[in-house]
Amino acid sequence: MTSTTVRAPAKINLGLSVGPLRDDGFHELATVYMALDLHDTVRVSLRDDDQVTVAVHADADGRAESTAVPLDADNLAVRAVEMLRSAAGVTTGVDLMIRKVIPVAGGMAGGSSDAAAALVGANAELGLGWSREALAELAADLGSDVPFLLHGGVGIGTGRGEQISPVLSRGRYAFLVVVASEGLSTPEVYAEFDRLEPDPAPPHVAPELMSALRGHDAERLGEHLTNDLEAAALSLRPELDRVLQIGVDAGALAGIVSGSGPTCVFLLEDDADAQQLTAELWSAPGCADVIHTHGPASGARIIA
Ligand code: ATP
Repeated sequence: MTSTTVRAPAKINLGLSVGPLRDDGFHELATVYMALDLHDTVRVSLRDDDQVTVAVHADADGRAESTAVPLDADNLAVRAVEMLRSAAGVTTGVDLMIRKVIPVAGGMAGGSSDAAAALVGANAELGLGWSREALAELAADLGSDVPFLLHGGVGIGTGRGEQISPVLSRGRYAFLVVVASEGLSTPEVYAEFDRLEPDPAPPHVAPELMSALRGHDAERLGEHLTNDLEAAALSLRPELDRVLQIGVDAGALAGIVSGSGPTCVFLLEDDADAQQLTAELWSAPGCADVIHTHGPASGARIIA
């Protein structure tokens, strides 16, 4: 039996500007995404019947809590395959095996990335030959972050985050990711944002952030990391404020809550800082893991 294995990167939002609530229930966003080396792996193989199954495993290196990941049609990767099969008019069964490393419900879009990887893997295994652009159209219906996770690198997301334009970015950056022992629900964080900020301004991307990326200026990038959801995440999880403080006091250039949180991400000057900072961050309240990673990384790509 053949299979296709796809790398599914985590993302962070270097800038996340949240605007007014739209009639369709989504907020208007302007965000700068970066894909990271930190990744899940999704293996896709065909079955003899018409079922779509998923197994999730977190082995010795798999850090994320696999028990929080649905093993039925609610799994975003299963939904992605079902959507692709129905759009392509095929009924061939598919087995998905996800090796989970991206923190679950951590604001790093692990589920969305598994879905992007499942689209790429199923497209290959089913021999559909769809272009990346065609897959991206389906991706937008699966979730706002999914098109970026196909795309990878650095990108600006507008609309509800699903309309991607590439960003010119030089060089690589080092990050430490502090994983919290308990996830946060994205809808709950947006509800708290609405309570704190009932009348937000139209969203925008800071020009300073873009020029720091063009110039590969880590210090400047650190000064312009922003997340409009941070106050809402901190309101629901006050201890995150302490986590951010510990990282900055220990020498990180900057720390922000990743997307809807509770994962916190620290930008480092370079890799030499990582070991000392990791040790200090392990003492932060609610810290379940500290991961050293880099970005930008490619979007969902076949690796075997
Ligand atoms: P969001 O993309 O909503 O911001 P997130 O990045 O914070 O979410 P995810 O790890 O993607 O967090 O998971 C959010 C929820 O989606 C989980 O609690 C889980 O119930 C569900 N889910 C569905 N499919 C997956 C998957 N393949 N991996 C992880 N979670 C999944």
